[in-house]
Amino acid sequence: MSRATTGLSQRPPPHVAVFPSAEMGHLTPLLRVAAMLVSHNCSVTLITAQPPVSAAEATHITAFLAAYPTINRIDLQILPPTPSDPATSDPFVVQFEAIIRSGHLLTPLLSTTSPPISAIFSDIASVAGVCQVADDLDIPIYIVSITCARFSSFVAYMPNLVESGSSITMAESSIHVPGLVPFDISTLPPFFFIPNHIFTNCVVANSRVLTKAKGILLNTFHSFEPETIAAVNGGKVIPGFPPFLPIGPLKPHKLELGDRRPLPWLDQQPPQSVVYVCFGSRTAMSRDQIIELRNGLEGSGKQFLWVLKSRTVDKEDTEELEELLGNSFIERTKHKGMVVKGWVNQEEILSHPSIGVFLSHGGWNSVMEAAARGIPMLAWPPLGDQKVNAGVMEAAGLGIWEKGWGWLGEKTVKGEEIAEKVRMVMSDERLREKARKIGEEANKAIEVGGSSDKVLREIIENL
Ligand code: UDP
Ligand code: UDP
Repeated sequence: MSRATTGLSQRPPPHVAVFPSAEMGHLTPLLRVAAMLVSHNCSVTLITAQPPVSAAEATHITAFLAAYPTINRIDLQILPPTPSDPATSDPFVVQFEAIIRSGHLLTPLLSTTSPPISAIFSDIASVAGVCQVADDLDIPIYIVSITCARFSSFVAYMPNLVESGSSITMAESSIHVPGLVPFDISTLPPFFFIPNHIFTNCVVANSRVLTKAKGILLNTFHSFEPETIAAVNGGKVIPGFPPFLPIGPLKPHKLELGDRRPLPWLDQQPPQSVVYVCFGSRTAMSRDQIIELRNGLEGSGKQFLWVLKSRTVDKEDTEELEELLGNSFIERTKHKGMVVKGWVNQEEILSHPSIGVFLSHGGWNSVMEAAARGIPMLAWPPLGDQKVNAGVMEAAGLGIWEKGWGWLGEKTVKGEEIAEKVRMVMSDERLREKARKIGEEANKAIEVGGSSDKVLREIIENL
């Protein structure tokens, strides 16, 4: 029964602490959730792990809080990183681990807020450190998973797959999770099979506490992943597991950050004529692969907008475009394409009518942003959950996943092959139509009364 019908509407609004951990791919969906809570009249406190790793995180947090002045901010000074693990030099992973170790420092910060905190919404990547805080304060915890329902189900089941240490044994070519289509091991991140890998340790520690949550919020929508959501919520994967709560595609918040130069250029291009190329916030290709991609885009003969990032952490990404691509390419393609370095407003770009196809790494936020606008994708997944995401995206009919292109650094994909795929996807009218329909379904899900909207309202009524 809703709060309105029980007279509970007189209660003060719930006060939710929202805790993103690290990386733009985590911060973005958590900020979107925070903005959605504000739009449903919740009070929100945003917890920020200090210091953040990337410049993008720091500038987005500042700009977000300026755009939402009612949101309160609590900084959590995290403990220093552990001495670097030779298995990873990835600063975001080091940050996840440090945030988990620092979780207990939140209890004193949250126990004195006024009004008192009524629930914590924690990024899945730090929940092992945060769930004790919810216990200490005796408040519910909801987890925000930033990947698809299918990969979320896999990580939920991971504690059952690991015996000692935290890695999974690679005994067969696929891994069976009850109630789900088996996972081909070639699609799972290789670090899951490395004993005591720092990130796998974090994932498993987080997965072990998922059952303490009241629910797992997902940036997906029911008709995009119906079987997986039904299997989890029907108790087939893990009996008694908290519900998967699909509330996506998450709506963009009111924040306009990013290089605006592509927009006038896009305005000059015909509808659906441009290949938009972006590999997310942190995927850095090798120099050789950048050159092949450059050749592929030029060779495809299509218009392109390419957001080029050559380092994992943006602060270190200082090379000029000319150094990476060569002056002659930039001169030759000046009427055909545009390459930018640095942050763009991807939501705004994907909303532009000139975009025809999105060549993407398959980060889950990117998949949902394309789905929300009915843009067909060509997925080239190089890391982490991205192959599983690409499989879900392809099965839903939103795009094509090029399976032979390997993990990051595994091989160098030749320009001719890239050009051919780009041409193929750009000319696939059936795919375009299917993607358009997915865009309609995505928008129905988040309209008032749609499947995702109903789930969100119910979560808020129960806070
Ligand atoms: N993004 C953006 N501008 C950029 C790069 C990325 O707006 O220059 C956004 C993108 O729209 C998405 C997020 O950053 O919301 C990246 O998340 P995703 O899960 O797609 O990939 P990740 O960066 O985590 O690999
Ligand atoms: N992930 C998870 N539990 C965790 C940390 C990460 O399930 O404790 C998932 C996360 O949702 C993501 C995947 O593992 O889908 C890879 O993590 P991340 O996005 O940080 O790395 P990326 O793929 O962007 O390099």
